[in-house]
Amino acid sequence: MSVEIPVTVAHPTAALPADRLTADGRTADGRTADGLSGEPFPRVETTNGEGLPDLRELAAVSKLLETNPAAAAIGWAADRFGDGLVLASSFQDSVLLDLAVQVKPDVEVIFLDTQYHFPETLDYVETLRERYDLNLNVVTPGVELPGPGELDRWMTDTDGCCGARKVVPMARALSGKRAWMTGVRRDEAATRASTPIVTWDVSRGLVKVNPIATWSDQDVEQYIRDRELAVHPLTDQGYASIGCWPCTRAVGDGEDARAGRWAGTDKLECGLHA
Ligand code: SF4
Repeated sequence: MSVEIPVTVAHPTAALPADRLTADGRTADGRTADGLSGEPFPRVETTNGEGLPDLRELAAVSKLLETNPAAAAIGWAADRFGDGLVLASSFQDSVLLDLAVQVKPDVEVIFLDTQYHFPETLDYVETLRERYDLNLNVVTPGVELPGPGELDRWMTDTDGCCGARKVVPMARALSGKRAWMTGVRRDEAATRASTPIVTWDVSRGLVKVNPIATWSDQDVEQYIRDRELAVHPLTDQGYASIGCWPCTRAVGDGEDARAGRWAGTDKLECGLHA
């Protein structure tokens, strides 16, 4: 499959424009991607075990995609990495899923079943699985739940719990893949404010793509309305960011979306994206 990267677009949720790059990095009339160097836009070849990518090239791809719609980032990744590309979804909403299946309907979708999700989240997963006929890979942690009267790690060691139930299973799921996509956005939290669209994930040794990194909360809401997407059942109850039930609460007016995650502690991220 050959997917082209659009050159310009006014709004991140806009459809793919007609003016697009060909697979060799030129526009139809022969212009180059940056319009300056005269060189075709770089083609990045990188996989696990095949050495480090050219980080300058990844940065250049990321820069180009800053001014293009999310579908362009997904298309670029699908073109470059084929079935080595996976999408990791927390199933808090279906924006990235909806975008991704329009570009690559059979993209593998990873869902980490930590065993501590809200029942509403598990119902939502099934709703979306049916709606999109998802190629869904539900990954379980391989960690026993505590017996009666026993403490689980989320009560005493949230970093250890996230490590065992999220980070390690994700590493297992990504083993052998070439790139992963996530729905991380800069608008979500200060810890995510500098999220690139494309980067080299050093800890996992594969490319990481964040197609909606530039989207604001308003962009997300608009896209959900425009596409009439199914909404997570807890969203209307004030849950702006939804993770495991022991570590998630609804947020009040004026609070950051992620203020309800590990509330009352100094923990901000689970370790998947930090
Ligand atoms: S979010 Fe809470 S329950 Fe879920 S893995 Fe992390 S510490 Fe454990």
